[in-house]
Amino acid sequence: MKRSFLNDDHEMFRKSLRKFLEKEAYPYYDQWEKDRIIPRSFWTKMGDQGFLCPDIEEKYGGSGVDWGFAAVISEELERVGSGLIGIGLHNDIVVPYITAYGTEEQKQRWLPRCVTGEIITAIAMTEPGTGSDLAGIKTTAKLEGSHYIINGQKTFITNGIHADLVIVACKTDLHAKPKHKGVSLFVVERDTPGFTRGRKLDKVGLHCQDTAELIFEGCRVHKDNLLGEEGKGFTYLMEKLQQERLVVAIGAQAAAEEMFKQTLNYVKSREAFGRPVSQFQNTQFKLAEMATDIEMGRAFLDALIAEHMAGENIVTKVSMAKWKLTDTAKRIAGECMQLHGGYGYMEEYEIARRYRDIPVASIYAGTNEIMKVIIAKNLGL
Ligand SMILES: Cc1cc2nc3c(=O)[nH]c(=O)nc-3n(C[C@H](O)[C@H](O)[C@H](O)COP(=O)(O)OP(=O)(O)OC[C@H]3O[C@@H](n4cnc5c(N)ncnc54)[C@H](O)[C@@H]3O)c2cc1C
Repeated sequence: MKRSFLNDDHEMFRKSLRKFLEKEAYPYYDQWEKDRIIPRSFWTKMGDQGFLCPDIEEKYGGSGVDWGFAAVISEELERVGSGLIGIGLHNDIVVPYITAYGTEEQKQRWLPRCVTGEIITAIAMTEPGTGSDLAGIKTTAKLEGSHYIINGQKTFITNGIHADLVIVACKTDLHAKPKHKGVSLFVVERDTPGFTRGRKLDKVGLHCQDTAELIFEGCRVHKDNLLGEEGKGFTYLMEKLQQERLVVAIGAQAAAEEMFKQTLNYVKSREAFGRPVSQFQNTQFKLAEMATDIEMGRAFLDALIAEHMAGENIVTKVSMAKWKLTDTAKRIAGECMQLHGGYGYMEEYEIARRYRDIPVASIYAGTNEIMKVIIAKNLGL
């Protein structure tokens, strides 16, 4: 199928990224999983080659290319493993807040080092007491002279351990009505007094992806680190969450394609009852169903990426893509594991890792239930 938003330049870029990943990521991935972290050196190598935030303007160190290149990066990273999601989060989720809402001074201060990988970023919305209900966050930021004083705790933060710069959602007005109008975003830098990291969290999957708790106790952030306007944080989050959901959908689709490819090869080589497993009708039907879901998912997703690149409003469709493609990938993971038999449950086969990595895609970036809430609301229900 021809992919409408991709041209020869994107494909050349994909080739060089794939070559880079074959040398710098695939051979080390298992070790990173054991270490429970990706080394910072991998980030700077990505940066050296122009694989971080390529869509940032040249004057801030980027390549100024269209978002199709970012989509290619997300796909190729997912083909290595879902544990690289933190890089996509940096490229397509966190840094875009600075590009969109940062002042000129903030952009010059941070963007060039986001492109080189010297600065790793994170976004901290979720708290121990609230995730889906973002307007219910309890972390506060109070202006005292030239500084805001932040108090609160965040959890499940991707890149939480490595992060040099964290965008933190805080309440600046506890009495705002409606309450989401009291939310503001702050850029908290490493070594800011009162900012510490809590536990590195032990997860079911995404083992090489660092996910952590962040603690703010009397954390003093200069008012120059307010992002955009006070009280507009929730609106900014709602705007930027669309691209976040698109990135998660892209990852889920790529993971489904990868699992399918591996299973197709496996069933042809594994024999039972004197013939390849691929010869059983059940195997054929399962793979035929998966191939259909994958083709349909790809068509919907590519059209959506093109609409996003054209600046169209994708809120409803991206919510559809996010829930549907992550649900499909989760089902495909289970079916592919089943077709691998006992070997599918062994770590030496990649499907085992994929099976435990994929379920989180229906939880983060807004749960799949929240996606359906949005779709229903936009249906006028
Ligand atoms: C590996 C990982 C990485 C993450 N990375 C980040 C990050 O970088 N930054 C960040 O801020 N957060 C991050 N998160 C947090 C993630 O976004 C939240 O876990 C998610 O939004 C759900 O919030 P919750 O965990 O509080 O679940 P809850 O909100 O407590 O939801 C529990 C259940 O109730 C359902 N539910 C809630 N409200 C409704 C409703 N209105 N209608 C129907 N059902 C509902 C949910 O769908 C879910 O099934 C990460 C989470 C994980 C697991």
